[in-house]
This record gives sequence, C-alpha cells and structure tokens, in this order.
Amino acid sequence: MVPAEILNQISDRCTEGLALALASPDDGAIMELKWCNKPFTKVTGYSANEALGQRGTILIGADLEHGVHLFIIEKLMNWENFQTEAVNNRKGGETYFQRMSWSHLTDPTTGDRWWLCSIIDLGDRRQGSPREQHKSEAVSHVEDGTSILSKVHSLELENARLHKLAQSVAKDANEDALTGLSNRRHFEVEVKTWINRLKEEGREFAVLYIDLDRFKFVNDTLGHEAGDNLLVTVADILRELTDDADLVARLGGDEFAILRSLSSSALAISGLADDIVQRMQAPFFCDGKSTSCSTSIGVAIANANTKDPERIVAYADEALYHAKAQGKGRWSFFTEQMHAQSIATKRLASDLFLACERQEFIPYFQPLVDARTGEVASAETLVRWAHPTRGILPPVEFLDSAENVGILKQVDKIVFEKLKLAIAVFDEADVLLPRVAINVSAARLMDPTFIHDIRSSGIAPNRLTIEILESVYLDRLGDLVRWTIDELDEIGVTIALDDFGTGHASVSGLLEIKPSILKIDRSFIQPIVDDVTKQRLVSSIVGIGKSLGMRIVAEGIETEDHARVVSALGCDYLQGYFFGRPMSAEDLKALLCATDGLLWPRARSYGASQEEEYSEKAS
Ligand code: C2E
Ligand code: MG
Ligand code: MG
Repeated sequence: MVPAEILNQISDRCTEGLALALASPDDGAIMELKWCNKPFTKVTGYSANEALGQRGTILIGADLEHGVHLFIIEKLMNWENFQTEAVNNRKGGETYFQRMSWSHLTDPTTGDRWWLCSIIDLGDRRQGSPREQHKSEAVSHVEDGTSILSKVHSLELENARLHKLAQSVAKDANEDALTGLSNRRHFEVEVKTWINRLKEEGREFAVLYIDLDRFKFVNDTLGHEAGDNLLVTVADILRELTDDADLVARLGGDEFAILRSLSSSALAISGLADDIVQRMQAPFFCDGKSTSCSTSIGVAIANANTKDPERIVAYADEALYHAKAQGKGRWSFFTEQMHAQSIATKRLASDLFLACERQEFIPYFQPLVDARTGEVASAETLVRWAHPTRGILPPVEFLDSAENVGILKQVDKIVFEKLKLAIAVFDEADVLLPRVAINVSAARLMDPTFIHDIRSSGIAPNRLTIEILESVYLDRLGDLVRWTIDELDEIGVTIALDDFGTGHASVSGLLEIKPSILKIDRSFIQPIVDDVTKQRLVSSIVGIGKSLGMRIVAEGIETEDHARVVSALGCDYLQGYFFGRPMSAEDLKALLCATDGLLWPRARSYGASQEEEYSEKAS
C-alpha cells in the first residue's frame, strides 16, 4: 500500500493539473469541485480556495471556442469521457493552449459519481493557426454559424436552470420545509463537524434539545394548521434568540435543537435556555383562540471532559427527559449522575421484559377485616417481583417503569393467572376467604381480553373485587373503560374506587361509575386519632358514600386506635399493617388457619358506644 503522504506528493509534483468534482447523479454537467492539486492552481490561475465549491464551468474561459464549449457540455451531460485541445483562459484572462481530459469515476460504497479533470498547459501555440492544427474532435464534427450559437445558448440556459435546480434540491435536502430551519439530516452532519472541531481544535459547544410540552394537545384540539403555525412561531422565536454562529434545527415533530459554541461563556447557554423557556410560556394565538404550550430543554456540553462526544445529542436528550420528569416547562443540564440513573432505568426496563417472560411477578395478599366482626372479609392482591438476585421487590421499585415501557398490562395479567392458583390453594386448605380484590391499571381495563380472562378464570365473579385508581377512572373514562366497567358490573364483579381523596373525584363522577366500594386513602387515616378535621372529613366521605349505597374501606390501619376511630366513624372494612402486612399466599393461608379468620378479636368489644362518641366529635 502506497502511503497517503507519498500519493499527495506525487499529485503535487506531476505536471498535470488535476481536479475532482462531485457530480449530480442525474446530470454530469452539474458538479462541484471538491479537490485539486497544486499544478491545477498553477495552470488555471485559480487558488484551491477559489476553485473548490465552484462549478466545473469556471474552467470554460471566454476565449474557448463555442463549438468546443458545446462539445464539453454535451459530453459532461451524457457522462462520456472526452478530451479537448483548445485555446482557453486562465483565471486572469490570459490565454494559453491546453489539453483538457475528463474521465468519470464511481464510488463503489456510496454510489457517488465524480469527474476527474486533467489539464495540461501546452504552451502558447497560437502561432501557425493552432486552432487548425489542434482542432478538437469536437470542432471537427459540429456545424458552425448561428445554429451552433443558438444551440450553445440554449444549452447554457438549460445548464444554468439545472444548476439552480440542483442548488435548490441541495437546499431542500438540508432544510425543514415547514420552518426553514436546518433539518435532522443537516443537523447530524453538523454535529459530526462540531465534534471533529472539538477533537482537533478544542472548540467546545453545547447542544440544546428542545421539546414542546403540549404539542399533541394543540394539534388535537385546534387542528393541524394551528399545530403547524405553532411550529413556525417556535422557529421564529428560536431564530430571534440565536445568532448566525448558532445552528438551529427542527429534528421532526415538535423537537428542535440548537448547537452553540462555548467560545462566549456557559452563561450564554443557560441564558439562552432560560429565554426560550420564558418566551414559550406566553400564550399563543391561532384563529383568535389562545392556547399555551410550554417547552422543556435538555442541555449537554461537549468539552475536553466529555467521555464520549459522539453521544452528546443522546446526553442532551437524557437531560430533556429529566427536565420533563421534573415537571416540564423548564430546562436541565446533563450530569453524570443523570446518566447513571438513565442507564439504571434502561437496565430496569430490559430486566422487566425478561421478568415478564419468566413470569417473575407474584401476588402477595393483605387481609381486609370486617369492622363489626373482626373477621377477614377479603384480601387485596398486591404484586411483588420475585427478583432472581434482589429478592422480593415492592411495586414502588418497578410499577412506574413497567407502565412507562408499556408492560403493566402483562404484569396485571400474570398476577391474575397466579391469583387463580393461590385461590385454589386457599380453598383446598378450607380457609375462610370470602373475597379477593385485584388492582388493575388503566391499560388492563382497556385490554379487550380482560373480561374474557375473568370469565374464564374459574373465580366466581361475586367473589372478585376490581380496584380502580381514582386518577385512572377520572382521566381515561373512554368508551372502552366505560364498557369494561359496565360489563364487570353485569357479570357480578364488585368495583372499588381505590385511594379515594388523592385524585379529584367529584360526586357526579361517583354517580356515573357507582363503585360499590370506596377505599379512603391512608393519608386521611394515619393522623385521624388526634386530628378532628380529618375525622370530620372521613365522616363526611362515609356519609356521602353511604348515601350512594357504597361500603367504605379505611386503608392504612396501623394501630388499634386507628381501627377503633374509623370503625366508630362508620367505615365498614379495615385494612392495614395492624392486621397484617402484605404476605405470600402461604403466609396468608397459615395466618387464616391459625386465627380461624378472626383477625381483630376485640372488634366486638368496641362498638356502638365508640361509634356515638366519634360521630358526635366529628359532627
Ligand atoms: P394500593 O392498591 O392502595 O395498595 C395499598 C398499599 O398500601 C400497598 O402498598 C400496601 O402494602 C400499603 N399498605 C397497606 N397497609 C398499610 C399500612 O398500614 N401502612 C402503610 N404505610 N402502608 C400500607 P404496595 O403493596 O406497595 O402497593 C402499592 C400500590 O401499587 C398499590 O396501592 C396499587 O396501587 C399498586 N399495585 C399493587 N399491586 C398491583 C397490581 O397487581 N397491579 C397494579 N396495576 N397495581 C398494583
Ligand atoms: Mg388497591
Ligand atoms: Mg389504595
């Protein structure tokens, strides 16, 4: 292999002027000079700086015979290799006799087509009618006179038109059609250039990754035209807040990005992020309607300490994710800690997929006690992840991630399958467990197989309660959810509204769904012994629920005092650590066998007198 440096020296020492031009695949006459050697600059008079980036037609001087000119353009347009010998001009206008050859090359990897142009200075041969002596192949077979001139003229016009077209195609290829900003393709090319400059010249820069927070909402409520207008407005704001040295791009959809050099200061970056966030808080008007669409930004700095500059855009994207998670309408700087967290999140996500395949989710059970009798009335099924190395994990460790990666529905399904087996175990052991409750996600409620799974489970529907989160039921009360809830009611499954009081359930919402059971969130129960306001609140929830024919569960009963107070306030069922923490099916079976289902033996010793005492306080 000949070293590149030697090849360079050869190309500069040979007597031929050589140039390479990248041509349009459709038309060989449309090209851009990309490289030339030193003799080329000597022969033509153009310095490399002047020539590169130009069309090959700068090599056609004013004194080049029209016939030859025509011949060159035709050959180039048709991708034919050729050679001419003719009088031509150097850049400054000086004429000389040259041999010019053109051969085309194809890059096998990219398919790009190139011209290799070689020019040899044959000296001043004008004496003795050089035109006659060295008449090019071209001139020998073209007619002369006005027909040639007009043909040349029209070809030149055509060539100019094609060149313009090629320029606009190149511009289109780099530009986002809607906003006129750079597009993703151009952005990616630029990022590579900026990374190279960082490596070679130490030029540091920042990437700002920008995402609108409510774009889908604007599109859905005001229509696509308004959505487009909003994107154009955002592009205008970004243009206004940046300067020529910045690169502003629309990456697609409602995502934008900015590359800014750090030559000024880090403050210029945070200031820019602040300004964008601020400006986007302002309402946006469309067709006389006003709406708002805040924006979130992730910022990553590429400098000497950046471990993997090639990933700089991904880092900015991670920071964006962080800004969104922190409540949107804000910006965050990328940090290593954030990166570690995001790797952990990704690992968790992939572990969760594996856990689904391996069916590592199991049901735990927590008993619910009848406030009057102290006997077990039901058990709530609570998922646990039997992790192969970390042991039994509670939902807080994985449910959000499962929801984010879209597998919560499968988790619920696996738990339900295992619940069937557990119930069979309880029944075989002949322990008293009148009911079981399961928690379902919104996704599972919308899963068309849900009702079928329940029907075919073999669990008697009247022994089953479905717990729905107040937020699910309020946000996603789409037709499918409504249909599912009606269907559940029809087949005799009980509906419970979970964590009541933490969302924004309205009484009319309650009337619409008519759950049979309200579960009061444990945040109301925990302070209840000493907090009269909470007692009043619980008392009124109980009042409303009962007037609608519902039964009331108090969650989070941790002490006997809790149990006494809420029983007195009229709650029907009690659930909490006081009676038992969530436990495995085996442990629940053992507990129920040992106690014969009586989990609060002193229930009956409290009763009417307490009930009156607390009702009086609360009223
Ligand atoms: P939840 O349905 O409100 O379940 C009650 C949560 O309160 C359980 O937490 C339980 O361990 C906890 N808890 C019960 N008594 C007490 C108490 O006296 N004191 C305190 N401090 N906490 C108590 P867990 O098991 O961590 O479950 C958390 C949440 O995860 C559940 O809240 C439910 O919303 C969700 N979840 C659990 N299992 C499933 C499932 O299989 N599918 C779905 N989609 N969600 C589930
Ligand atoms: Mg629940
Ligand atoms: Mg709850």
